[in-house]
Amino acid sequence: NSEETLQLVIVGFGGMGSYHGQLVEQAEGIVVRGAYDPIEYRMELASTRGFRTYDSFEAVLSDEEVDVVLIATPNDVHKELAIQALQAGKHVICEKPVTVTGAELLEIAEAAEKAQRLFTVHQNRRWDEDFLIIKDLMSQKKVGDVFHLESRVQGANGIPGDWRQLKAYGGGMLLDWGVHLLDQLLLLTDSKIESVHADLSYILGTEVDDGFTTTIKFKDGLTAVIEVGTTNYIKLPRWYVKGTEGTAVIYDWDLSGEIVTRNREVAHVEPTPIQAGKGLTKTMAPPSEESTIRRPIEKAEDLSDGFYTNLVSTLHGASRQAVPNHEVHRVLTLIETIFESAEKNAVIVREI
Ligand code: NAD
Repeated sequence: NSEETLQLVIVGFGGMGSYHGQLVEQAEGIVVRGAYDPIEYRMELASTRGFRTYDSFEAVLSDEEVDVVLIATPNDVHKELAIQALQAGKHVICEKPVTVTGAELLEIAEAAEKAQRLFTVHQNRRWDEDFLIIKDLMSQKKVGDVFHLESRVQGANGIPGDWRQLKAYGGGMLLDWGVHLLDQLLLLTDSKIESVHADLSYILGTEVDDGFTTTIKFKDGLTAVIEVGTTNYIKLPRWYVKGTEGTAVIYDWDLSGEIVTRNREVAHVEPTPIQAGKGLTKTMAPPSEESTIRRPIEKAEDLSDGFYTNLVSTLHGASRQAVPNHEVHRVLTLIETIFESAEKNAVIVREI
C-alpha cells in the first residue's frame, strides 16, 4: 500500500544513528519507530527524543511493525546485523563503509536477493552540493574537457578517539572518509580505471591510517588525486579541477571558490615576464586580465531531495535505488586496490 508510512528502527544510536533520527523526521512517508543500542545511556537519549527503545536486536527483528532497519554501528558488525535483519524480512539501510571488503558486501547482497528485501548503503555525500556543482561543471564542460581533478578533505584533529582508531572495528581514514570521496569520484566519469597508486599515512602512530593520498588514472585519460588528512592545520581546497579551457576551485563546504576560463574572444596575449624569487619568468606569469574570464561558483542545477526521499519512493516501487549495490561494490574494489598499492608501494595496473 503506497499510502502506508514506513516504520524504521535505528540500530546503533551513536553520533550518526541519532543524526538519522533527524533525517527521517525531515522526510515524508517514513517515521522512526524506535532505536536499539546496547549502551543504556544511548537508549536514554533515544527515549528523550521520543523514540521507543528495544532491549535487544532480536526484539527489533521480531517486531512485525518494523519495515526498515537502519544500521549505524561501528563497521565490523554491519554485515552480521544486515544479514540477520534481511533474513527476518526487513529492508535494510546500512551506514558506510558498508563492509571492509567487496566479498562481504556480496554476501549481504545475496541475503537480500534471497529474502527479496531492499538493501542499500547510506552514501549521503552523493547529495553534497559541492560535489553536484563539480558534476554539473564536468558534464556541461564549463572548463572544457576535464583532464585532472583533485578532491580532498583535511582536518587537524587527528582520528576521533574511538573505534575509528582500531583495525578490528574497520577503522582508518581510507574506509571512513575515503569511501565518500571515492564514491563521488566514480560518479564523475563513465570511464573505467586503468591504474592506482596510493600512500597511506601513519603520522599519529595509530594502527590504522590517519590519511592517504591516491592517484587514480582512468582509461579516458582523466587523472584524479584523492586525499584525506587529519594533521592539516592549513588545508588545501576541497576541489581543484583542470580542463582544456580553464580551472575551477571550490575551497570548502561553504562553496566559496571560482572558475577561471580562457577568453575565446581575445587573441592570446603574450605575458610580460615577472620577477619571481631570484629570477624572471614568463611561463609562470599570471594570465592577462583581458584573456581570462572569472566567474563565481554557480549553484548546482539538480538538488534532488536526498537519500530518504529516494528510499521511500523505491520501496513503493516508484523509483530506482539511488545507491546501487554494484556501485558500492566497485568502490570497495578500489579501496582494496588502494590498500594493496600502499602496501607494495607500487602502481597497480588493473581495470576497475
Ligand atoms: P558511534 O561510536 O558514535 O556510534 C556507534 C553506536 O553503535 C554506539 O552507540 C554503540 O554502542 C552502538 N553499537 C555498537 N555495537 C552495536 C551492536 N552490535 N548493535 C547495536 N548497536 C551497537 O559511531 P558513529 O560515528 O555514529 O558511526 C556509526 C556508523 O555510521 C559507522 O559505520 C560510520 O562509518 C557511519 N557514519 C557515517 C557518516 C555519514 O556521513 N554517512 C557519518 C558518521 C558516521
